[in-house]
Amino acid sequence: MSSRLRILRIAINTPLRRLFDYLPPHGCNPEQLIAGQRLRVSFGRSREKTGLLAEITSHSEIEPHKLKHVIEVLDNKPLFSLDHLQFLKWASDYYHYPVGEVILGTLPKLLSNGSPAIKKHVRYWRLKHGEKSLSDNLPANAPLKKAIMDLVKKHPEGIAEETIRRNFKNWHKPLNSLAEQGWLDSFTHEIPDSKQTCTQTENIKLNPEQMKAVNTIISTGNTYKPFLLNGITGSGKTEVYLHAIKAYINQGLQALVLLPEIALTPQFIERLKSGLKANTGVLHSGLTDRERMETWLGARDGSINIIIGTRSAIWTPFKQLGIIVVDEEHDLSYKQHEGFRYSARDLALYRAHQNKIPVILGSATPSLESIQNVVNKRYQEIKLTKRTGNAFLPEINILDIRSCSMDGALSGPVLEVIRQHIERKQQVLLFLNRRGYAPVMMCHDCGWIAKCPRCNIQMTYHKHINKLCCHHCQHQEKLTDTCPECSNKKIIEIGHGTQRLTETLEKNFPEAKIIRIDRDSTRRKGTMQSMLDDAQKGNADILIGTQMLAKGHHFPMVTLVGIIDADRGLYSADFRASERMAQIVMQVSGRAGRADNPGTVIIQTHHPDHPLLKTLAGHDYVKLSKLLLEERKQTILPPFSYQVLLRAEANQPDKIRQFLDEAHNLLPRNHKQLQIFGPIMAPIEKRAGNYRMQLLLQMPDRKQLRNILDTWVPLLENQASSRKVRWSLDVDPQDML
Ligand code: ADP
Ligand code: ZN
Ligand code: ZN
Repeated sequence: MSSRLRILRIAINTPLRRLFDYLPPHGCNPEQLIAGQRLRVSFGRSREKTGLLAEITSHSEIEPHKLKHVIEVLDNKPLFSLDHLQFLKWASDYYHYPVGEVILGTLPKLLSNGSPAIKKHVRYWRLKHGEKSLSDNLPANAPLKKAIMDLVKKHPEGIAEETIRRNFKNWHKPLNSLAEQGWLDSFTHEIPDSKQTCTQTENIKLNPEQMKAVNTIISTGNTYKPFLLNGITGSGKTEVYLHAIKAYINQGLQALVLLPEIALTPQFIERLKSGLKANTGVLHSGLTDRERMETWLGARDGSINIIIGTRSAIWTPFKQLGIIVVDEEHDLSYKQHEGFRYSARDLALYRAHQNKIPVILGSATPSLESIQNVVNKRYQEIKLTKRTGNAFLPEINILDIRSCSMDGALSGPVLEVIRQHIERKQQVLLFLNRRGYAPVMMCHDCGWIAKCPRCNIQMTYHKHINKLCCHHCQHQEKLTDTCPECSNKKIIEIGHGTQRLTETLEKNFPEAKIIRIDRDSTRRKGTMQSMLDDAQKGNADILIGTQMLAKGHHFPMVTLVGIIDADRGLYSADFRASERMAQIVMQVSGRAGRADNPGTVIIQTHHPDHPLLKTLAGHDYVKLSKLLLEERKQTILPPFSYQVLLRAEANQPDKIRQFLDEAHNLLPRNHKQLQIFGPIMAPIEKRAGNYRMQLLLQMPDRKQLRNILDTWVPLLENQASSRKVRWSLDVDPQDML
């Protein structure tokens, strides 16, 4: 045993941006300590915490006799590989987010709280003698046994005991007796078998474009290579993913598939599962803590071949990752919007690079960042230009509503077209990206507006509960019929949310079945799925939805899509608003007219001559993205520059101002390329009782910006003023809110 001093540098889940030095536990052989093990340490005053050994060195800035000993080592082997640790540290560096919060905060809860990293073994049952052991031979007085046998028969690969338990109340005795009599046999398996849900799907023959795409991807073998799979909606991107993944799984490698949202895309997951026939782990919000940990461990140990999940699945460790897919790569939900503001899409590129593997970014409406990366030759573009089957892209019509009669949010011509489609028993989909009844409640006499007392921003009226709701802090209050300013009783609703739109439609089409899909209507578990099922089966005449509807569903019966309020995206303070509007319009219209019915899209606008809308009408996302990129280039906005947003909030505005002024002064002066904007008030100046301000840094060179941050952030942390505010850094911000 070496007598050299060993200092353990430990990651602990705290907001401090550093590792903490400890000595090995008493009586421990330091040779057995390996980076990646979890440990129990005392931290602060008499508190114990779970930490992760990140580095072992022989030097500490603190004198050794002042260092504490670790209490206990929790793992006898590292929780994950050094590569994975390296990835986590890189993410912490890149986003300047506290390393302990990154390393421990991205673990499944059971692991970050120190529970043992072991998998539960699940017991399975199957027929002992195959199909010959017919349950018909069972005596008639054993109906339960017969029923159990029938269920087991349906699962030749084995059925989990848990499933039998869920199906039969008094299952235990008959099951054991069947086993004793030699009918059934049990075995254990590490993880719940995901093949159970496999349904037989027909084998789809790839079209030449798809085939070429698959071949291009798999010909990269095991080297780093990013692909932008730019395929119009309905061009069959899923099949391309599936075949590419298959090639890697057949080599014994693993795959990671990221999706914007799991609950919304059951068909996609089903298709991958049934097409791959591999052990699949799906990470979704409905998992128990234990299931989440088991899936994590299964990926780490290699018993799971493919992980499908939303953005947080990017933190899964793998035994040997072979390929990554990021579906709908343009989707905003890949960026976490609070706390650790990482982008799972961007991290996917880092992981692919680190593992020397291909990564596919798929979209019908790629982000401008990715398109620019194709221009720069950082990504290789693969195009899918044809819709499968007989489906055609719908016709997009721009409707000038400036002189139209309006009923609520709907113009006369749109109401008329809706009527025609309903009469023909065709489905209509209306898109309005605003939930609630009315976004503004105003006094008609004095102009008073109902604002959230904590956020100083207008509240949305929700009629069915007769309450005003703040969409920023969840504050709710009852709506009064008297104006608090002038005491008159003329409070009126301004603007339209999905609930109000539904009301207008119910009035005009009393016979029609209307389904509204937004965050309010789908709050209860399972409602989303049953609404989607209804929509897809054709049990609805009109679908109304927010952007939830634009994500990955296909509505084959829909022949008319109405974009109710496109104007908000045309003129907005957010420079990304037009890109998003274009993406949503293309996505929503791509969901229609899948079957043999060609679809029509109508966009209601007060600005029919806007170049953006005209380009959209031609389905020319390529031309449109060129237009938008040219604009960004002129103004040196991303992707032609990189941004970092420093946000700060506090209960008093002068505390924030002081901190941000100091932060400003700590930046290099007269740096040629660094642009600094602010400090300015945030777009939402006050939220949940706190004032909010921000400082924006922008620079054309990412590396230089990172260098500046590397010296700046530690200085910020040491400012006394930083302790009087809540501040956070957003690297590559996607919004300025
Ligand atoms: P995208 O994700 O590009 O919008 P999907 O992958 O969802 O498109 O495919 C759209 C539909 O086309 C699906 O129903 C799929 O089963 C079908 N499909 C895909 N590829 C083919 C093919 N080569 N031949 C026939 N149908 C296909
Ligand atoms: Zn008033
Ligand atoms: Zn509020």
